Amino acid sequence: MYYNDKTVLFLDGKFIKAADAKTDLFGQTLHYGYGVFEGIRAYKTVNGVKLFKAHEHFDRLRNSAALVGIPFQYSAEELTQIAYQILERNNLTNAYIRPLVFCSPNMSLNGPKEVSLMIAAWEWGKYFSTQALRVCVSAIQRPNPKSTKIEAKTCGHYVNSILATMEAKERGFDEGLMLDGNGFVAEAPGANFFFEKNGVLYTPPLGNILPGITRNTILEIAKELDMPVEEKLFRPEELFEADNAFFCGTAAELVPIESIEGQPFAKSWKNSMGLIVQEAYKCIVLDKSYSYVIV
Ligand code: PMP
Repeated sequence: MYYNDKTVLFLDGKFIKAADAKTDLFGQTLHYGYGVFEGIRAYKTVNGVKLFKAHEHFDRLRNSAALVGIPFQYSAEELTQIAYQILERNNLTNAYIRPLVFCSPNMSLNGPKEVSLMIAAWEWGKYFSTQALRVCVSAIQRPNPKSTKIEAKTCGHYVNSILATMEAKERGFDEGLMLDGNGFVAEAPGANFFFEKNGVLYTPPLGNILPGITRNTILEIAKELDMPVEEKLFRPEELFEADNAFFCGTAAELVPIESIEGQPFAKSWKNSMGLIVQEAYKCIVLDKSYSYVIV
C-alpha cells in the first residue's frame, strides 16, 4: 500500500529501494516509541509540484528532536531538497511525505548516540472534504504536558491518539475530540480544532496541543481576511452553543464537523466561516491567489 518494488526512499544518506530497506529490531523507537516524525503534503500546483510549508515542517522535526534530546544534524533546507528528490525519483505529484528520525539499537533508557533518518513518500490525492464528521468527546485525555514534551511530534504520543480514535469508532462516531487534563477542549487525535460562534473563530491555545502548521496557516488566513479569531480555553459544553466547527491538519486539510455527541450545529457548512477558510487554504496550497474569497 505504501510502496511497490520500484519505490525509492531515503535512508541514512542514500536513496534505496523501499523493498531493500532494513532496520534493526532492537531500536529504542520500536520498543519505547522514542523517535520523532513529520507529515508533509505535496501538491500539484499551477507552478509545478510544491511541498506545502516544507521548512516549517522540517523546523518542527528538528525542534521535536531537540526537545526530547535526539541528536539530529540535517538542516531544514537539506531535508527539503531530499524530500523533493524523493518526489521526483518516484514520479509523485499529490503525495504525503513521511520523515522519521529513529534510534539505533539500545535497550537501555539512556539517550541515543546514533540516529537514523528515513524519508518516504506515497501518493495521496487532494482531499478537501465536504463530508462532515460525527464527533464525540473522547474519554481519552491528551497527555499531561508536565509528563512529556507535548509540542514534540514524538512516535510514542500516538498511542494516545490511537486509543482516542479506537474509542470514537467503538462508540459509533467518526472521530473523537480530546480534552486536556483540566477538562478543556484540546484537539483531535491527529488534527487541531476550531469552532465558530457569532462571527468569531475560536481555537485552543498552545500548551496541550500539537502546534499545527495548518492551524497556524488558518490563523494567518483569518488575519488576512479580517476574520475575527481568538485562541482561548473552553469546555466541551460551550460547543453545544457553537454555530459550526472543523478539524484541520496536513493530512485532514479542513474537515467540517456535523455534530458533537449527536448534537448538530446551528449553521450549515455552506454558510460557515470554515468554508471560506477552506477555500482560501485550498488556494494557498495550490499556489493560487485567494483574493476572490470575500468575507
Ligand atoms: N494535532 C495532532 C495530534 C496531529 O497529529 C496533527 C497532524 N500532524 C495535527 C494536530 C495537525 O498538525 P499539522 O497541521 O502540522 O499537520
